[in-house]
Amino acid sequence: MLFDIAIVGGGPVGSMIAKISSSRGYKTIVFEEHDEVGIPVRCAGLVSERVIKIHGEGIINKIKGADIVFPNGREIRIGGNRVHAYVINRRIFDKSMAEEAMANGAEYRLEKKVKRINFKNGIFSIEGEKARILIGADGPKSMVAKNFSMGKLQYINAIQGYGKYDMDEQYVKIFLGNDLAPKFFAWIIPAEKARIGLGTTEKNLKQHFKKFLKNIDARVDEITSGLIPIGLRKFVRKKVALAGDAAGQVKATSGGGLYTGLMAAKILANNIENLNNYEKEYMKSIGKELQRCLLLRKIFIKLSDNSLNKFASFVEKNVDLINKYGDIDYPSIVAKQLLKSPFSFQKRKSASSQKEN
Ligand SMILES: Cc1cc2nc3c(=O)[nH]c(=O)nc-3n(C[C@H](O)[C@H](O)[C@H](O)COP(=O)(O)OP(=O)(O)OC[C@H]3O[C@@H](n4cnc5c(N)ncnc54)[C@H](O)[C@@H]3O)c2cc1C
Repeated sequence: MLFDIAIVGGGPVGSMIAKISSSRGYKTIVFEEHDEVGIPVRCAGLVSERVIKIHGEGIINKIKGADIVFPNGREIRIGGNRVHAYVINRRIFDKSMAEEAMANGAEYRLEKKVKRINFKNGIFSIEGEKARILIGADGPKSMVAKNFSMGKLQYINAIQGYGKYDMDEQYVKIFLGNDLAPKFFAWIIPAEKARIGLGTTEKNLKQHFKKFLKNIDARVDEITSGLIPIGLRKFVRKKVALAGDAAGQVKATSGGGLYTGLMAAKILANNIENLNNYEKEYMKSIGKELQRCLLLRKIFIKLSDNSLNKFASFVEKNVDLINKYGDIDYPSIVAKQLLKSPFSFQKRKSASSQKEN
């Protein structure tokens, strides 16, 4: 049978595309290398309300804010009384999305790792099946991207485990420090068993994680590691499109990719017959925010521990502003407001240079 759409990857983004396209009558097939959708889980599962509105399955906790721990140990709480984020069970979230796609008529080939794709006379041949449109929703190391030379990404190495941790169950904890988690951060997400993890661009991930666990006096099991992509690939090449982590559609500030990937899935599914529109529409909307996040990351990775500790005082003075404008899907909104704040780093710098003159 000739399928309209073949999707490599049965993660949330692949399944969301399959769910929409099959509901519109497109014959859709999804290839997933694992024997079950939703495992292994390589995600902290912290998402905004926007994600819940797209797919509200698997909620296990509601989060009101974050305690940020700076390199000198100073801890500052941001957030407030309203719910800012949700913790989800990714296994349930991904599985229920795939079930909805199947209920709409999408076919899944589980335990089918796509190794080769051929393209001839306008038709893709993938693991014995044929399709006229190909979508790579196959995660950060996307074989589809590689196969069709759609660009390269950089990566953050991330590791996470589950363990008991005594904490306020409505606040996540974020730890900053160049010694602790170089060029990224460490986290504890409260859930029945806390999700304790760390990301860094450095290779000795396990050593950093061991040290972090010792610092916070925690033990974890079910440890998994994964990659967080940084940068953006080309999304479209003729009848091939990438979406989600495969395209690098992840916030470089936090590594969060569910909202940005699901938005891509929606926009892509709406432009399935004109893929170039997908890239244009995405870049005009959430894509711009991803570019701003890349800029913010460039600034963040240059901060020494000393600067991070100074930044703590700045954060403390601006807690109300952060609480008002903070949005985990659009971090640039609060960043812009912080630049305008009377305590802004920039203004202090120019005031001191005026004094010097
Ligand atoms: C440690 C960690 C913590 C994170 N925490 C958060 C968070 O709190 N909030 C958030 O929003 N995001 C978070 N993310 C990011 C989030 O997990 C991803 O953005 C999201 O999973 C992207 O979905 P996807 O469908 O694009 O890719 P994936 O979820 O990676 O799915 C890709 C699928 O493709 C399959 N696949 C790959 N290659 C092949 C192949 N050749 N053949 C067949 N199948 C294939 C894989 O098995 C997988 O099922 C985190 C990431 C990591 C690593």
